[in-house]
Amino acid sequence: MAAVNLLNLDRDALTAWFGTMGEKPFRARQVMRWIHKRGAADFDAMSDVARTLREKLAREATITAAPILRSGSSSDGTRKWLVGVGGDEAVETVYIPEDDRATLCISTQAGCAVNCRFCATGMQGFSRNLTTAEIIGQLWMAEHELRPAVAAAGEGATRAISNVVFMGMGEPLQNYDAVLPALRLMLDDDAYGLSRRRVTVSTSGMVPMMDKLARDCPVALAVSLHAPTDALRSELVPLNRKYPLAELLGACKRYLQHSPRDFITFEYVLIAGVNDADRQARELLQRVADVSCKINLIPFNPFAGSKYRRPDAQRVRDFAAILTEGGIVTTVRRTRGDDIDAACGQLAGAVRDRTDVAARRATIEIVAAPPPTPTPTPV
Ligand code: SAH
Ligand code: SF4
Repeated sequence: MAAVNLLNLDRDALTAWFGTMGEKPFRARQVMRWIHKRGAADFDAMSDVARTLREKLAREATITAAPILRSGSSSDGTRKWLVGVGGDEAVETVYIPEDDRATLCISTQAGCAVNCRFCATGMQGFSRNLTTAEIIGQLWMAEHELRPAVAAAGEGATRAISNVVFMGMGEPLQNYDAVLPALRLMLDDDAYGLSRRRVTVSTSGMVPMMDKLARDCPVALAVSLHAPTDALRSELVPLNRKYPLAELLGACKRYLQHSPRDFITFEYVLIAGVNDADRQARELLQRVADVSCKINLIPFNPFAGSKYRRPDAQRVRDFAAILTEGGIVTTVRRTRGDDIDAACGQLAGAVRDRTDVAARRATIEIVAAPPPTPTPTPV
């Protein structure tokens, strides 16, 4: 019988698996703490687990994360790992430290089937879903790679990573069955113990799965909007033809009834001459008027083979100002880790084409825009 990779199992699955081995549930908890809290990669290290059980585990199970193919650190502290997921496929994990938090951006699929027109991952096409082990393995690997440096820096920090965003490669809600146990492990006190508010799933608008997530494991939600009208959104995000804006915004409102945060974050990639006009900012204000939200503007990050351009800084500021004046808290994402291509889609692309170092994509840091003016949202 093939060995079971314990990184695939959340608490319930691990407890059930120990049950099939004739072991008590508390063993599952003990082993879970070793794996996820302490980063154990082999059973020998588990000193409070009886030797006979350790030997049995070594025969029946493994703790196997996807291998790191390459990594890089930027002068601003950003770290990036290229993780091999079989064949010539690779995905990216990016760590972004800031003053008050440290965010890990993780991937859920090799490639992506949604095929958004402005996305390097989408343009690669879809290869396959990652397993739960490959998804949680990114956090397991990064947390335990980084923790020694965090501990050495003092200040009492016991964890390297305080926030996780599902904003790497892939559409998380098209790989729901593998993502859900990974989410549960992130929140589990015997694993990573992150609060629901500090784990954000980003989706291009898989409406039925948004409802399912609200029931199964409500975490913070970011929705990739990118356009104020169905005509334009269907062009940029083909999934809009299946789940148009009215349905998507309806799902957002339903999600808010379960969400750990009292707003949805709308992501909006700003593309020069496509969706960045003042008129479109005003249309956007009207579209989202009855959804409690924040808007995160992401100036388009060009990549080789893309026909789109990034708007200039003034255009971005003017677009943001209209939203802010309309009463919506608006932030602009700024690029980090440029010197290591710490942009999702970038390093994995470079595996196939090592000469392609000029193209840059978005990174995760969010910079607060000026506070909103007291003007009420127009109705
Ligand atoms: N598939 C999910 C999550 C991963 S993408 C989603 O689409 O929401 C994370 C964010 O990066 C999304 O808002 C996505 O639209 C944006 N993005 C993709 N390509 C980009 C590019 N070239 N420039 C700027 N942002 C991009
Ligand atoms: Fe997939 Fe998100 Fe890229 Fe669209 S933006 S192709 S949903 S990864």
